[in-house]
Amino acid sequence: MIDTHCHLDSPRFDADRAKVLERAFAAGLSGLVVPAIGPDSWDALLSLPATDRRLAVGLGIHPQLLPELPEADDAKSLERLDSLLGRGVAVAVGECGLDGGTAARAPMDRQARVLRGQLALARKHRLPLLVHCLRAQRELLELLEAEPAFEAGLLLHSYSGGADKVRRYLRLGCSFSFAGPVTFEEAKRPQEAARAVPLDRLMAETDAPDQAPHPHRGGRCEPAHLVEVVAALARAHSLPVDELARQTTANASRFFGRAFSE
Ligand SMILES: [Zn+2]
Repeated sequence: MIDTHCHLDSPRFDADRAKVLERAFAAGLSGLVVPAIGPDSWDALLSLPATDRRLAVGLGIHPQLLPELPEADDAKSLERLDSLLGRGVAVAVGECGLDGGTAARAPMDRQARVLRGQLALARKHRLPLLVHCLRAQRELLELLEAEPAFEAGLLLHSYSGGADKVRRYLRLGCSFSFAGPVTFEEAKRPQEAARAVPLDRLMAETDAPDQAPHPHRGGRCEPAHLVEVVAALARAHSLPVDELARQTTANASRFFGRAFSE
């Protein structure tokens, strides 16, 4: 299995990162994608894949981080991102996206500008996108629908847009990944959304250290917990766990081609 989104570089793993990885591989993971949240983490992340070829990285600017970054630096950050993507180490652009809850401190027009800058870089470097969207589905759909198609693919991470919007995102060529919430008994919305996603566009993630799945809910999430997410996706699609695992792994291998093909 491939964890398509985990923040392995989070300080919350500083004390036991090697053990966390050991448990992940022991649980059956063959690859992990670690997306950046902002410019300060880019250099460190770029050195990660050389330590273990099962680790791949994305470089981007998370919308929730924008309030901490001076707006005057946005253009400069995108230029630096362009040159770092040119090294050919990163396998995706992201984490990027739109966040409704952050709009009061980083207005939507700034968020959209920074996102469009990253969409352009993904096209230029022929890389797929890792997109965060929380309480901004309408804005994201409108923004994406005004763009040409994304040849290298776009993954909506921890998809929270509901089953009703799946079809619109599918028309844009998007793929969907689900995290811990899809395992919660009462969480009908992510389960219905997961069911609405065709099997060839479905992936799994932990978003560790956040969004721990049942029965780890409330604690620190780690990539080994991907097992629970995959099991919940299998239930949503009424498929054996093995089959769902095989399908989502194949999708992730295809999507992150540069990282996980032998
Ligand atoms: Zn994330």
